[in-house]
Amino acid sequence: MAGDKGPQADKIAAGLTRRQLIEIEACSRCGECLLWCPVFPHDPREEISSRGKLGRIRKLAGGIASPSDEAALLDGLYACSACGQCHVVCPIRINTPELWEQARLALANSGLLQPEAQIQQLKTIREYDNSYGKPRAQRGLWAERASRAGFFLGPVPTWSEQQSEVLYFAGCTASFDETMQPVAVQSARLLQEAGVRFSILGADEPCCASKLRRMGDNEFRTEASRRAEMLAGKKVRTIVVSCAGCFKGLHSDYRGILPPSVEVLHLTEFLWRLIREGSLKPRHEVPLTVTYHDPCHLGRHNGIYEEPRKVLGSIPGLHVVEMKRSGPFSACCGMGGGLKLARPDLQKKMSAARIREAEAAGAEAVVTPCQTCLMGLSAGAAAAASSLPVFHLNEMLVRSVCPEITFDTIAAGLKSSDGQGGRSAP
Ligand code: SF4
Ligand code: SF4
Repeated sequence: MAGDKGPQADKIAAGLTRRQLIEIEACSRCGECLLWCPVFPHDPREEISSRGKLGRIRKLAGGIASPSDEAALLDGLYACSACGQCHVVCPIRINTPELWEQARLALANSGLLQPEAQIQQLKTIREYDNSYGKPRAQRGLWAERASRAGFFLGPVPTWSEQQSEVLYFAGCTASFDETMQPVAVQSARLLQEAGVRFSILGADEPCCASKLRRMGDNEFRTEASRRAEMLAGKKVRTIVVSCAGCFKGLHSDYRGILPPSVEVLHLTEFLWRLIREGSLKPRHEVPLTVTYHDPCHLGRHNGIYEEPRKVLGSIPGLHVVEMKRSGPFSACCGMGGGLKLARPDLQKKMSAARIREAEAAGAEAVVTPCQTCLMGLSAGAAAAASSLPVFHLNEMLVRSVCPEITFDTIAAGLKSSDGQGGRSAP
């Protein structure tokens, strides 16, 4: 497609893979994607849909786009959580999440500007190596403070203190956001309860840099390679990740960058392995009817649907009901793909809609294994004026295994300790 269509068109076409150039031509305009897109009901314009975006990428790459096509494409590309629902329902199976990310990169390289809030977020990640703009030295404080508060069974060593084959990777949100630090504390405690010998990286833990990829930053591959080299040098066998975004980063985006000998597992996969082997034993009853929200990065993007449900199924007394949209058809809460930065109004509406779906399923609570979805759905409950509680999956297991460290107990304990934290939502 590259040729004499103008330098911008050539740059955009050159920024897409051969397969993607075929995909943008292959759309049959059937409109199935419009019926399923979680954004479209809240902003029903053609450019929001997969069909609308594909048509305009085709025009831009072909050098026949008008200024209004350019504006509409930028609008549609950034008002998208890259949730992948349009990929699942597309009869041609166009790999839309990959295409949107690559198109964002190609457009940025051709001089078309992305939303200011995303530009600022990328700048923060590059400058501080985390999305919160906090000093790197504070990254491991959650473990030190939780240890002082007595939430662990023993020390949670850094890798330099104990070179373990299993590494727990907390990620930026559970490390720096005070309201989400209980996720990291509960994750580490559950590993201890199962007798796993593991370490954390503490202040040396890097940002996974996956947001650079999500938002179309040129530096992603270079940054990922640096991080992969550091991780590979530690001779770690298994990296356990409790954030769905970091998991997609380390597991999928680092494919071909991180040595294949390094196993990257989401926490729920590892927990299910421990329960299945008998090392972790849910014992106390948790009499609650919950519904499970599939994070896009875990479910649709990586096919992990079973393990989190099996973990929940192993908890005595816990009853799981499914929402109308679940598994591959699970409706996105709007927290992915930088959508919350570009269009916070849409994110709130999407998560409020998801909360209403959970209520309609007859659940007493929503459970999700991702702290970012937890934040998004909690905002959605507030926007929907719903009293439905939203829990991290860890909370259900903790109530069954070690009920003395509930999420609220940890949050209160960390608050009264002498550390630092505070929310500054990415
Ligand atoms: S579902 Fe696929 S083929 Fe149909 S309009 Fe959407 S992108 Fe095109
Ligand atoms: S990736 Fe999700 S939000 Fe984006 S167009 Fe497709 S269905 Fe809509």
